[in-house]
Amino acid sequence: MFNFDNSYARELEGFYVPWKGAEVPAPKMVRFNGALAKELQLDPAALDSDEGAAIFAGHTAPEGASPLAMAYAGHQFGGFSAQLGDGRALLLGEVIDAGGVRRDIHLKGSGRTPFSRGGDGKAVIGPVLREYIIGEAMHALGVPTTRALAAVTTGEDIMRQNGLEPGAVLARVASSHLRVGTFQFFAARGETEKLRQLADYAIDRHYPELAGQPGRYLGLLAAVRDRQAALIAQWMLFGFVHGVMNTDNMTISGETIDYGPCAFIDGYDPATVFSSIDHTGRYAYGNQPQIAQWNLARLAETLLDLINPDDSEDAVAKAGEVINGFPAAYQRAWLTGMRTKLGMVREEAEDLELATGLLSVLETQNADFTRVFRSLSKTVAGDASASRALFANPAGFDVWLPLWQSRLEREDAPAETRIAAMNKANPVYIPRNHMVEAALESATRGDLAPFERLVDVLADPFTERPGLEVFALGAPSDLGAYTTYC
Ligand code: AMP
Ligand code: MG
Ligand code: MG
Repeated sequence: MFNFDNSYARELEGFYVPWKGAEVPAPKMVRFNGALAKELQLDPAALDSDEGAAIFAGHTAPEGASPLAMAYAGHQFGGFSAQLGDGRALLLGEVIDAGGVRRDIHLKGSGRTPFSRGGDGKAVIGPVLREYIIGEAMHALGVPTTRALAAVTTGEDIMRQNGLEPGAVLARVASSHLRVGTFQFFAARGETEKLRQLADYAIDRHYPELAGQPGRYLGLLAAVRDRQAALIAQWMLFGFVHGVMNTDNMTISGETIDYGPCAFIDGYDPATVFSSIDHTGRYAYGNQPQIAQWNLARLAETLLDLINPDDSEDAVAKAGEVINGFPAAYQRAWLTGMRTKLGMVREEAEDLELATGLLSVLETQNADFTRVFRSLSKTVAGDASASRALFANPAGFDVWLPLWQSRLEREDAPAETRIAAMNKANPVYIPRNHMVEAALESATRGDLAPFERLVDVLADPFTERPGLEVFALGAPSDLGAYTTYC
């Protein structure tokens, strides 16, 4: 069923604990991602079955798997924990996908491990399906992300804040589960040779152009910086708030990982926080670029001995220069994306000011970020009424509009081409918080239909379809502030 090739287990002994999933009473498939299975060269018919459910629950290990719990450390809300690790997850094994890329198959919610600390090692259906919905939505938006291969229920009831909830496991796929926290685990123990082994493994897997190069560890840091800059720019351009950007939740590959208290903004406000535990707003929407840079500085610290073993001042200076390059790398990626969202191809010096000018108008009006941007292509086509209608008071927008329009007059590319590009950068459908909540609530009660409908709608976020109007709307105004729980 799987053609496993488990490089992590083979090459990185001492970086994990071999482990098995917990047995569960009644594994049942909730949703199987057949398209992703095909991409992974798996047999969808064989796996979308009771046998597949038992595998993805962690109940039985398929032939060729080498399940293991990965060791990692991490800064959580700024405070360092020297030992976190897979406390409720297992790396089942790796497969090579149809494009030749090595992909991890990972189970989340598969029972206690030596890294569980006080936790029960389990997951429940709501958060599992939330990760399914948001991860697949991010993929459809074009954002690098882990993906959902399968969601299963275990037949077990698990105690959570609100009482007993159905136990569940998510099988997710990543180009690896190497995190900033993986490096921190070995750096905290002063294990430089293990760090070198880990860094070389990460280079081979994600940045093979650096393999064997003399300056490769500094190169690795710069490469991760650039991928993270591009990733966070995409989050910002789609209004995504990760919610728990701890260093153990930041990948070396540049993929989004660990969809816990994440959510998309409705009204534009950089101070937006959804997570119930983010009391200080550390991981607010507008703080994300800064936090990414902070996390990269923690990665840099782990690499200093490798960057220059003989001269720590030199290592610090070189690593510092790379980290200080983050804001420029981020802003380049963000501005490139923003130009597309605004129908602009040329690069002009005032573009940044023009873009931030619109954001200021959105902020003062708390206007819906996604809907306003999507409406702008209609304005380019000659009708600004749809855009104006999204502001309670359009006065600010009316000031900004002619500035943008005169900027657009200097574009050479035909309007139709630019409109088409805008409509591929400005989604109609994002995982709206109230829709996600309603789908999860129904699923917890046993009705999966709203979840399935939502996943299907979000698989094609850029094409406006009749009959789906309700999926494009913001939260009803009487809903109040939205809070997420991990
Ligand atoms: P997260 O906040 O999901 O990124 O997890 C942070 C750490 O807590 C990781 O080491 C997880 O494996 C661990 N963890 C989270 N939930 C549980 C749980 N229910 N049981 C055991 N460990 C957990
Ligand atoms: Mg995590
Ligand atoms: Mg504000």
